[in-house]
Amino acid sequence: MNKLVKTAILAAALLLPLSAAAQEMDWKSVTRYNKAEAKKQLTERFTKYVTFDTQSSDQTAKVPSTAGQTKLAKALAKELKKNGVKNVKVDSNGIVTGEIPANSNRNTPAVAFLAHMDTALEASGKDVKPQVHTNYQGGDIVINAERKLILNPGNSPQLARARGHDIITASGGTLLGADDKTGVAIIMTMVQFLNDHPEMQHGTIKIAFTPDEETGAGVEKFDVASFGADYAYTLDGGDLGELTNETFNAKSFTVEFEGLRAVHPGDAMNSAFSDNLLMASDFHTLLPRHRRPETTADRRGFILVDSITTIGDKSEIKGIIRAFSEEEMQELTGEVTRAFNTVKSMNYKGKGFNLTFEDQYKNMKSVLPEQMISLAQLAMKNEDITPVLTAARGGTDGSSLSFMGLPTPDLFAGQYNIHSEREYADVDVMEASLRTVLRLISLWNIQGNSGNVQ
Ligand SMILES: [Zn+2]
Repeated sequence: MNKLVKTAILAAALLLPLSAAAQEMDWKSVTRYNKAEAKKQLTERFTKYVTFDTQSSDQTAKVPSTAGQTKLAKALAKELKKNGVKNVKVDSNGIVTGEIPANSNRNTPAVAFLAHMDTALEASGKDVKPQVHTNYQGGDIVINAERKLILNPGNSPQLARARGHDIITASGGTLLGADDKTGVAIIMTMVQFLNDHPEMQHGTIKIAFTPDEETGAGVEKFDVASFGADYAYTLDGGDLGELTNETFNAKSFTVEFEGLRAVHPGDAMNSAFSDNLLMASDFHTLLPRHRRPETTADRRGFILVDSITTIGDKSEIKGIIRAFSEEEMQELTGEVTRAFNTVKSMNYKGKGFNLTFEDQYKNMKSVLPEQMISLAQLAMKNEDITPVLTAARGGTDGSSLSFMGLPTPDLFAGQYNIHSEREYADVDVMEASLRTVLRLISLWNIQGNSGNVQ
């Protein structure tokens, strides 16, 4: 077969699915998507959800750690059912799950959308009083005059790009809960949209709202197998276009030095005296200063000692290593080993030397199928949003889920200054996130099976 014939056959084969696809691709005209209505729903939902006190607690092993999370879980389950979601469940850990059955006969993978219900420990989540500041025109937004709590582009640079947007803040004395109730509101509004617009074609959509993300305890209880999704996205990100597809590789290390301090210090010279406390402090000093948390940023990893404990003749040092690439992890592991070996060689009278490493979590990039990221990028581009690939300098629920078998990158949700009294939500960015999700659902249905991303 010559090349020309081959091309012609290929074009003919592609023609039918492409024209059908083109119609479905234009989901906004098919559904008569109304931006103002979407913003109204997002605002109503978000301002309602933040009135639930769902602050998580690290003082208990129970999941959910606080009763307020169960309250919100039940309210969300009720709302999902009202909007046509099937198999809605709240399990004993307060995890809410549900399913929107496919209405398309393509063999589309099951795609899930997740958000967490709890709020951070750094500020109170009780009696949150949201304020909606419509049509921001620049300058100061007063959260609380008495407490001199003000938002402006000086303390919140992204506000410089928020002219004309609706901004939601708390009223002082509490956080807002934008992290992650923006995500919850976006997912719930997507659910209502699909229910109101059966003309929009989609595969199976799975929904989950999870507890205790802030302590990391909730995700451990997530039953990936029974959830039954092929791919998932968390809606727990910040500014327009953010797509987090990377997290740190994380290792911990433990160093033990054993000496002999049970000698009268006055007679230590020429004795078996061996100072494990000095070995521990030498080790700490020998670690590179330019590879510490406060001397690294962006894509550069670090080493941090968390504790040094000395009891009698034994000193124990515990620390962590964080790095995006395997090469850098090797390099930093080498630095720790080198410091340890140096101390060992300097203290021939020492009784015991031990160094162990333990893997904690891995950069999720290594297990995320490329199609998940390229479809999310394409969804944004089709909505005139510039995708910004982001690497999280920490672990996420998504990175844990990814290694539990459910690949889960994170999408922007319009939350800013999180974990603080200055936290705010940008309703227009939330609306852009909603459109991205709907477009993504449409793209998965059209391209998700073929593996060919344009
Ligand atoms: Zn969050």
